[in-house]
Amino acid sequence: MHQPPDRPEQPEQQALFGWEETVPAEPPGRGGGFRDSARARRMLDVREVYAEPAALASPRGQQILARLPGVPVTEIAGHWRVPSLHGNEGNIARWTRIKTETLVLGVRQSLTTRPNGRSADWIAPGASNGCAMACAYCYVPRRKGYANPITLFTNIEAITAHVRRHVRAQGPKPEPNQCDPHAWVYDIGENGDCSVDALICDNTADLIAAFRALPTAKASFATKFVNPDLLALDPQGRTRVRFSVMPPDDSRLLDLRTSPVAERIAAAADFLDAGYEVHFNLSPVVLRPGWQRDWAALLDHLDDVLPARVKAQAGAEIIMLTHNQQLHEVNLGWHPRAEEVLWQPAAQETKRSENGALNVRYAREIKRDALARLRELIAGHAPWLRIRYAF
Ligand code: SF4
Repeated sequence: MHQPPDRPEQPEQQALFGWEETVPAEPPGRGGGFRDSARARRMLDVREVYAEPAALASPRGQQILARLPGVPVTEIAGHWRVPSLHGNEGNIARWTRIKTETLVLGVRQSLTTRPNGRSADWIAPGASNGCAMACAYCYVPRRKGYANPITLFTNIEAITAHVRRHVRAQGPKPEPNQCDPHAWVYDIGENGDCSVDALICDNTADLIAAFRALPTAKASFATKFVNPDLLALDPQGRTRVRFSVMPPDDSRLLDLRTSPVAERIAAAADFLDAGYEVHFNLSPVVLRPGWQRDWAALLDHLDDVLPARVKAQAGAEIIMLTHNQQLHEVNLGWHPRAEEVLWQPAAQETKRSENGALNVRYAREIKRDALARLRELIAGHAPWLRIRYAF
């Protein structure tokens, strides 16, 4: 790692509400890995567990709880509806504390793989949903409710067995596409962040191990967190990690609790050398005064610091911001400065989604022009960066 995440001079991005740091400082290298470091526990310091009985009884559930001695466990009937956690907008003031201190354990009932065709060929059933980070634009809480801590699914054997069956049923990929020239690509982290999940359980490790033995397929996940423990998982080229990047000023405002963008970029070579394929998500692209200048500077930074071997294999997705009216209203309650850039009615149009939510995206012509400009910037500042798709 060029900049180890537990260096004290690399502060975590701003915490909300100024709540007290309760984890004592710990010298780097002590304990069993990064997941036992003080920095990891600032991200995830579980103080309460809600769990379905079947999840508690499972080997993965037992393994997770063994790492949380003394943490109280409340049994719940279903992981999807925990009244004190989900859909409770009154939790706004405790939002990130809940993300840090609460863990839900459940059993994933639906094991289905969906076709995608943009970021991946397929969306695998994830081994978690929810996230300990708190990006202001995150779409995950739109579905789950606003206090949105990590739910880990403990039936990981069933999830990996399903994925193996699905991969084998496809046979070899018949022709190249933008997802990958050879392998079927499966997104394994649609509704969370696999790097953070790996702080508390081995679900991410188990999925990476499963794909290691699947020569016609590749796992893929986006992340905004640098977890050096992933470097030991030996993916043997069968897992693509996509580090999400955006101009650091946007990230400091919008990507709360994530690893700094420079740290994500600095980690790329180590992940490549550890056997990952390393791509970048340029996302979300937020249009605001100065966005072109700042994206150009970010592309210059990528060009300056990434070694040739990373550039040679890197691909990128470009994802323009989408937002949501209900999330906008919630955000106004805890982070109104974010909404000054996210909520731009003059430039955005609304679209009602299938579940009735009012989603917001840049108007067609504005988006088209912005994407064209971003492609020009990439051609000028980071011409080696192959754009897999722009959306
Ligand atoms: S890291 Fe991803 S899943 Fe987590 S809050 Fe940010 S956008 Fe949502």
